[in-house]
Amino acid sequence: MKPFILVVEDEAPIQDLLTYNLEQAGFEVAQAFDGEDALVVVAERMPDLIILDWMLPHLSGIEVCRRLRRRPATQRLPIIMLTARAEEPDRLRGLDTGADDFIVKPFSVAEVIARTRAVLRRARPSLEEPELRVGELRIDLVAHRVFRGEREVHLSPTEFRLMRHLMENPGRVFSRAALLDAVWGINQEVELRTVDATVRRLRRALNAPGEADLLRTVRAEGYALNEPAALDMSAGGQTRAEMGTRF
Ligand code: CA
Repeated sequence: MKPFILVVEDEAPIQDLLTYNLEQAGFEVAQAFDGEDALVVVAERMPDLIILDWMLPHLSGIEVCRRLRRRPATQRLPIIMLTARAEEPDRLRGLDTGADDFIVKPFSVAEVIARTRAVLRRARPSLEEPELRVGELRIDLVAHRVFRGEREVHLSPTEFRLMRHLMENPGRVFSRAALLDAVWGINQEVELRTVDATVRRLRRALNAPGEADLLRTVRAEGYALNEPAALDMSAGGQTRAEMGTRF
């Protein structure tokens, strides 16, 4: 069963961008265009998570959040708040709205999807999805198999864990030390150059001759999986490229 996400946002282009991309990522999505509308949808069918814009007509996102937190049935409902300016997350945290996470506009779609997955995983471990998709990449988390398009990519267990970590956070750059912690475990005696060697093997397995390189080496920083927007553009399709625009 797909996790059910409610997106509350009055600006139609952002609403549609989020809805389209969340559906592409395997979520079921309902839309609400103001705070009152959001409370009606929640009363009809409880979402697994709400993405809630702060600036809404009539009832602000903060007020919606507070009302949901006051009711026992929605006290623990995961909420990700969208905010307009960079300084606001700190202020919002100070206001104690009860939101689980904050995303500042302009956001990348990949970031919203990664945070949605992270908050869901924390809140509802049973909702863990059986597979992840990023662009043409697909990872079956049950069978531990990875596909690029139709082609299966054969990986060692370590390469698989690295792949999974990068796919859960597309576009994000990880230092080698951060990858060591996430993939090998913080207490393992592994050297940083092991990370480089594993990335090299993963890259070889992932990219057949003539295919675009899906991994990005960021000089002096680390590694990242290219964002879905970039992957979609390389796969063609005007609409996809437009949907990947940052808002
Ligand atoms: Ca708004």
